[in-house]
Amino acid sequence: MENNYFNNLLKDVNIELNNKQLKQFEEVKLELIEWNKKINLTRITDDKDIYIKHFIDSLLPCKYIKENSKIIDVGTGAGFPGIPIKIFFENCEMTLLDSINKKLVYLNDIAKKLELKKINIIHGRAEDFGQNKEYREKFDIAISRAVANMGTLVEYLIPFVKKNGIIICMKGPNVLEEIEESKSAIDILGGKIEEIIKYKLPSIEIEYNLVIIRKVKTTPSKYPRKAGTPSEKPLK
Ligand code: SAM
Repeated sequence: MENNYFNNLLKDVNIELNNKQLKQFEEVKLELIEWNKKINLTRITDDKDIYIKHFIDSLLPCKYIKENSKIIDVGTGAGFPGIPIKIFFENCEMTLLDSINKKLVYLNDIAKKLELKKINIIHGRAEDFGQNKEYREKFDIAISRAVANMGTLVEYLIPFVKKNGIIICMKGPNVLEEIEESKSAIDILGGKIEEIIKYKLPSIEIEYNLVIIRKVKTTPSKYPRKAGTPSEKPLK
């Protein structure tokens, strides 16, 4: 019954999953609910909300991602959008980064249960990893949902991607104001807004936005600034 529910949602948004992927999503849902009883992973715990707000929402950016990409999900929390994207693109290289270690214990467990390959789960702050030469300018795509305002978020994300790579900011409504305020930050960091895609989730009235920014220039070495500064003093 629940699988039918998820299948219908997938049809609504034109996304196809095979049986293995459907099983993996069921496993994520069960694990998420179980772990959430022990540690605070997510406020979304109702089955239907998990399918729509976590799974469908996380899968929609896949339409803008190429197979085999090297991807980092910054501030992944309980693995969104990174885990659904990794399930969708079995062969992508996925890095999940978060500054809260206990969430990573869950992520390691789920990655093992789902037998995910080419997945790297790391603990720390985006500002520090963005200056680490093993991570800086090494990704095709950096993506993030519900982590920071655009002005701060671009300083977290743009340093991770190679020139010509993209960052995908998953945003709620009223994104235009945030974009306006972050225009010079995007430029300083070497980005250029490519597309703003409005979308809706099944049975939710709110309009969401995917902001896609292409990296057109190398990021100056002083960015990201030290941990805390991008949120305290967003680039203007
Ligand atoms: N992306 C997930 C989602 O949409 O369900 C989690 C969103 S949660 C509201 C924000 C997450 O970002 C938290 O888990 C927090 O630890 C992480 N975070 C915030 N700032 C960060 C930073 N500078 N570096 C790494 N992680 C960060």
